[in-house]
Amino acid sequence: MKEEIRQKYRVVIGLEVHAQLLTSSKIFSAEPSSFGAAPNTQVGVITLAHPGTLPKLNRRAFELAIKMGLACGSEISRNNIFDRKNYFYPDLPKGYQITQDRTPVCRGGSVTIKTKDGVRDVKLNRIHLEEDAGKSIHTEGPDTFIDLNRAGVALIEIVTEPNMSTAEEAAAFVTEVRKLVRYLDICDGNMEEGSLRCDANVSIMLKDATVFGKKVEIKNMNSIRNVQRAINVEIERQMELAEKGEVIASETRTYDADKNKTFGMREKEELNDYRYFPDPDLSPVVVSDEWLNQIKATMPALPHELFNKFVSQYKLSEYDATVLTDSKDIALYMDALCGHTKNYKAAANWMMGPVKSWLNESQKNADQFPVIPKNLADVIELIDSGTLNFTGASQRLFPEMLQHPEVPVRNLVDQLGLAQESNQNSILPIIEEVIAAFPEEVKQFKKGKGALIGMFMGEVMKRSQGKADPKTTKDLLLNTLKEV
Ligand code: ADP
Ligand code: MG
Repeated sequence: MKEEIRQKYRVVIGLEVHAQLLTSSKIFSAEPSSFGAAPNTQVGVITLAHPGTLPKLNRRAFELAIKMGLACGSEISRNNIFDRKNYFYPDLPKGYQITQDRTPVCRGGSVTIKTKDGVRDVKLNRIHLEEDAGKSIHTEGPDTFIDLNRAGVALIEIVTEPNMSTAEEAAAFVTEVRKLVRYLDICDGNMEEGSLRCDANVSIMLKDATVFGKKVEIKNMNSIRNVQRAINVEIERQMELAEKGEVIASETRTYDADKNKTFGMREKEELNDYRYFPDPDLSPVVVSDEWLNQIKATMPALPHELFNKFVSQYKLSEYDATVLTDSKDIALYMDALCGHTKNYKAAANWMMGPVKSWLNESQKNADQFPVIPKNLADVIELIDSGTLNFTGASQRLFPEMLQHPEVPVRNLVDQLGLAQESNQNSILPIIEEVIAAFPEEVKQFKKGKGALIGMFMGEVMKRSQGKADPKTTKDLLLNTLKEV
């Protein structure tokens, strides 16, 4: 599409992100909420609203929603009710979904995102609690199967204001929300399994228009990359229609990642079709100061707090701090490591180098990393004091530490014979030996072939079995060569 056409329009994007809460039972019943069980084995009469049954709120789900609101700086509603949202759909056999319409548990707030255009806050409209619906499984043939295990699983829905304008911002928002829910330990953030889902609302308007265009809602994006791709193709589609003078219908569309296209599903229901009304089976939930304070006390360190600490206290670059706070377990390990060493830059390099490679290769999280922070700090200390060099430490000592995490570092260093000689008295004889062994090269060096220093260094290191401290060796070599 031509750039001048793009320039004519303003793009408006608002997201609705659903996150399944990590509660072991459902939001209004004791039915288990684990993923992957045989279809229809985890649903009972309460979720199906059989006559005479009563839902009862899972208070933990409520607390997890409040945690998300606190992390986003939202206002927490003190008086909450639950509403019934009435609609017919095969995966909702009781005919209504319990949600929060007029009293979302959290109002306002924001999530800070970073894109190539800089840092900005995406404003939230609300975060509310609701129950998930069941799942329709469409087959190749004419049949559709219904699995109701997911029905009644606790969800929060995070609704942004329509204040994003690029697919990149939308992707950054979902990335940040996924990071937050993982830090808070309220959702596993797994988009492939559907525990984190994103619907994107997209509209366009002429730059000088004063009212928003009709929005199209896109569903079924199972990765952050696909959120970005889907929004981009939808923007193109809308601009093409607008250029042809056609109207953009307000509708729900589904994204097909293989074809990289959106397809119309259904016209969007009008708001009042749902006939929301307070669920008479559930009592109002009052959030007292005491309860709120208890929840506040359980808040973990948040990614931006650790980022700020890494930059201001540990003097790391913003890049390093971003990488190291990307996942909570790495950030916490790094923070613990910095409690044992003052060489923060070395700590960051160990984390981003050997530690991360090992975690990637073994597909483990940092909370499963076998070496305790104190031991890794000991290695940094041994390098700084000249006892070890980084190559020996990372290539020989580190693998041994992973194998024998219980053995003190100093013992492993001794067993491997890695302690290097910074003692001039033991390096000098080796240097003299090397100089005697390469008379021709010494001549060349003296005539100005300075690059030969590498060869001499290599020889000394080899003959010292890697124990010679490179810096001392180089200084001594240069001095000795000068005097020959
Ligand atoms: P609905 O009444 O259809 O549920 P809401 O006003 O509740 O619509 O908004 C739902 C989502 O759509 C929100 O994330 C909001 O930011 C987004 N949204 C609303 N209007 C627009 C628009 N014109 N263009 C893009 N997104 C929009
Ligand atoms: Mg709405």
